[in-house]
Amino acid sequence: MDRSSENSLLGVDAELARRVRNMAAALSARGIEIKVTSGKRSAERQAALWANRANNPYPVARPGTSKHEQGLAVDLVPTGIRTSNASSIMGEEGERAGLQWGGRFTKPDPVHFEMPDSGALVLNGSKIIAQAKEQASGVRVLAALGVTALLIHLLKD
Ligand SMILES: [Zn+2]
Repeated sequence: MDRSSENSLLGVDAELARRVRNMAAALSARGIEIKVTSGKRSAERQAALWANRANNPYPVARPGTSKHEQGLAVDLVPTGIRTSNASSIMGEEGERAGLQWGGRFTKPDPVHFEMPDSGALVLNGSKIIAQAKEQASGVRVLAALGVTALLIHLLKD
């Protein structure tokens, strides 16, 4: 991806950026280059887009409800060689990379890709598992200390 695309990824969720780069590599291998035209948006930026939504060819989410404001969405367009079905190929590769494609929304937004809520759950889930493992190893340490204390106690008697 070009520098402007990388700049547009600044501030978005790290896992989202990783999935977008994977998607870009897969698309590049299929002859489609993409550009990130929008990443994380400030509340002001979303409000400005909302105010001007009548002139936007794509649906605009009400301020406070866009995943762009949380850094969990990007807008992507194909550049260079365009095949007539570039958009559906992008949707296919985006979904393969673990993103939710706006092309499937009730109001289709084919340039929009976001982290699925289930993806966030998976990430939160792995955090919870990591925490549980930490706590379990803490319990093992405490148990080991308990055995040591018991041995010391027994040796003293
Ligand atoms: Zn979008």
